[in-house]
Amino acid sequence: MSIFNINKQNTNLDSKIVAGLERLSHVFRILLWEKAKEHHLSPIQIQLLIFIQYHDSNKTKVSCLAQEFNLTKPTISDSIKVLEQKKLIQKFTDISDTRSYSIQLTETGKKVVLETENFINPITEIIAKANEPDKIILWENISNLIVGLNKLGITSVQRTCFNCKHYSLKNESHFCSLLNQKLLTQDIRIDCTEYETA
Ligand code: SF4
Repeated sequence: MSIFNINKQNTNLDSKIVAGLERLSHVFRILLWEKAKEHHLSPIQIQLLIFIQYHDSNKTKVSCLAQEFNLTKPTISDSIKVLEQKKLIQKFTDISDTRSYSIQLTETGKKVVLETENFINPITEIIAKANEPDKIILWENISNLIVGLNKLGITSVQRTCFNCKHYSLKNESHFCSLLNQKLLTQDIRIDCTEYETA
């Protein structure tokens, strides 16, 4: 029976959790839409600007962005074209492969990021009020869910500890050989700059 069937949902915790996550995904979409409308951009264009702002140029090529956002290269290229027309990004040709280019923000693009990335604030403020043990449990479950979805091939790019060559389980504890330290649940990363695929 469907989790959207109210009778099942109200008598089954798994269904309630999934329905709750689905409702949260609506909230993220609505908050992002509001900001996108203010700047006459689409939600994906805002997401691209924010991603480009915080990632190295080797991750801001069209092919990487397509993988990151689970979209096709033509879809990303269309968004990039609009962002370039609006003078929010600049393309830099790769000297080792002149057919490829990476993307960086212009000063105007950085300003738009500053004005839009706070779309997430209502959720951040609620999370900030939770106590630390609850946050750790929440994080453990969210990171497990992300890894589970990645294993099913639903999310393509995951720079998480669990997929990293520096990660191991030592005496039932998470360990990073690069940082040479034990990782507590709250140290597990889902977007690590030092990540290398196992
Ligand atoms: S390098 Fe980063 S992703 Fe890899 S195990 Fe260490 S902290 Fe995790």
